[in-house]
Amino acid sequence: MTIACPDCGALQHVPPLPRRAKAACRLCQADLEKTSGRSITAALACSLGTFLLLFPSNIAPLIRVDPFGMHAENVIGVGIERLWNHKWLLISGASTVLVIAIPFVRFGLLSAVLGSLRLGCPLAVLSSGVTRIRSSAPAGAPFLGLAMLPKRVKGAW
Ligand SMILES: [Zn+2]
Repeated sequence: MTIACPDCGALQHVPPLPRRAKAACRLCQADLEKTSGRSITAALACSLGTFLLLFPSNIAPLIRVDPFGMHAENVIGVGIERLWNHKWLLISGASTVLVIAIPFVRFGLLSAVLGSLRLGCPLAVLSSGVTRIRSSAPAGAPFLGLAMLPKRVKGAW
């Protein structure tokens, strides 16, 4: 596969690497590709853990204050409802999408893709690009993969 160096931009052909190997740029010695530290099981555990923690984070109080005997607490949904009631419709809608909907969709889909890869189900065919993303990519690997597409000039994408 041909990879553009992220530091100097040099195009280089990198053959398939064995396990725990690393390819370096011939000009600046920056890391081009690593095959160590890749684990679909670990990525699935992190993604699924994040997805499951989204439920209590949206139900539990976001902030709780007890000054001088008074008690106040707020959850995400109540804050969005207050924005809606005060006619801040755009911010209320954006908050609903960005704070509640997108994280559930993102980590739900990521967990489904990684789970299918782990189990070898047909969904893995649709998501084969996830396994080719660099090992340094965080849990949002599919989104980073889309950003990295221009760097991968030709290959098995
Ligand atoms: Zn380089």
